[in-house]
Amino acid sequence: YAKQRGKNRVERYQARYDELLRRRGTLENELRHAIDRDQLRLVFQPVVALPSMRPVGAEALLRWRHPTLGAVRPDEFIPVAEESGLINRIGAWVLEQACIQLADWLTRGHDVWVSVNLSPKELHSTDYAGQVAEVLELHGVPPQRLVLEVTEHAVATDMEELISRLAELRATGVRIALDDFGAGYSSLGQLRTLPVDILKIDHALVAEPESRTGMAAPLVDVVVRMGHRLGLEVLAEGIGTPAQRAVVEEAGCRLGQGSLFGWGVPAEHLEAQLQTLRQGGSNRPVPAPRSAP
Ligand code: C2E
Ligand code: MG
Ligand code: MG
Ligand code: MG
Repeated sequence: YAKQRGKNRVERYQARYDELLRRRGTLENELRHAIDRDQLRLVFQPVVALPSMRPVGAEALLRWRHPTLGAVRPDEFIPVAEESGLINRIGAWVLEQACIQLADWLTRGHDVWVSVNLSPKELHSTDYAGQVAEVLELHGVPPQRLVLEVTEHAVATDMEELISRLAELRATGVRIALDDFGAGYSSLGQLRTLPVDILKIDHALVAEPESRTGMAAPLVDVVVRMGHRLGLEVLAEGIGTPAQRAVVEEAGCRLGQGSLFGWGVPAEHLEAQLQTLRQGGSNRPVPAPRSAP
């Protein structure tokens, strides 16, 4: 019996593994054509100053809608793009689209910056800083209007290499944000040595006060204070409720992002959202759009 059960389990495991591999293969094949077939879009999520809620910028977030697979989440397809090497082409597309949009907003008088997420793979590709400088110049975007977000996961790799790459990027005049900070990879000690400008506190840290009252607020507090002591701007992401906003504000955090202020929306809708925020905004959580946020 035990033997039979064990065998069934192995078969179930094998079947699941096969299915995962098949899905991965499909995604990779389809992702290869996603740009040419016009399936990729950017949405923009507002970043606000706290406590005023004045909009100051927006994060560009990638969306992939496939005719038969439907909306595929970036958490699923970005790793596939990274492993298959497609990320360089996709990342270049994201950077250019974001710059085109940013140039348009600046021309029309919006005082905003735009941030773009960067894979460690892109950061380490040959002359990435040169590519960034080229795109900025091509679209007439002042470098200080662009923020490049490097995930905290990248910190786990070769520190010296990372530091020199970030320094090169920064030399172009763009600002660097360390994304997902507090998710558990880097330490406050490592942070001290990294040439970054903005610290983004991971939403897991921000969400915690809701579930364990009084427990994580001190953590948010420490991270914000440490960030400021290091001369960084600190941005709390994933703020979804007024209570979370209160915790973040009490910690002295001056920048926020999350569903309370707005989800990512197509560029043409962001302007309306910025307008609402400028007029004092709403204090209620914004419901997630039905097609994946
Ligand atoms: P991230 O850069 O940390 O982006 C924040 C994620 O949190 C986004 O998910 C956003 O929609 C979500 N979010 C925003 N507000 C809230 C909130 O109040 N509550 C909750 N629970 N979530 C919130 P999204 O768009 O699915 O992106 C997931 C991740 O995919 C991003 O995490 C980023 O690491 C990656 N990604 C997205 N676009 C790109 C891209 O163009 N290039 C690269 N390399 N990675 C990207
Ligand atoms: Mg990000
Ligand atoms: Mg993040
Ligand atoms: Mg994330």
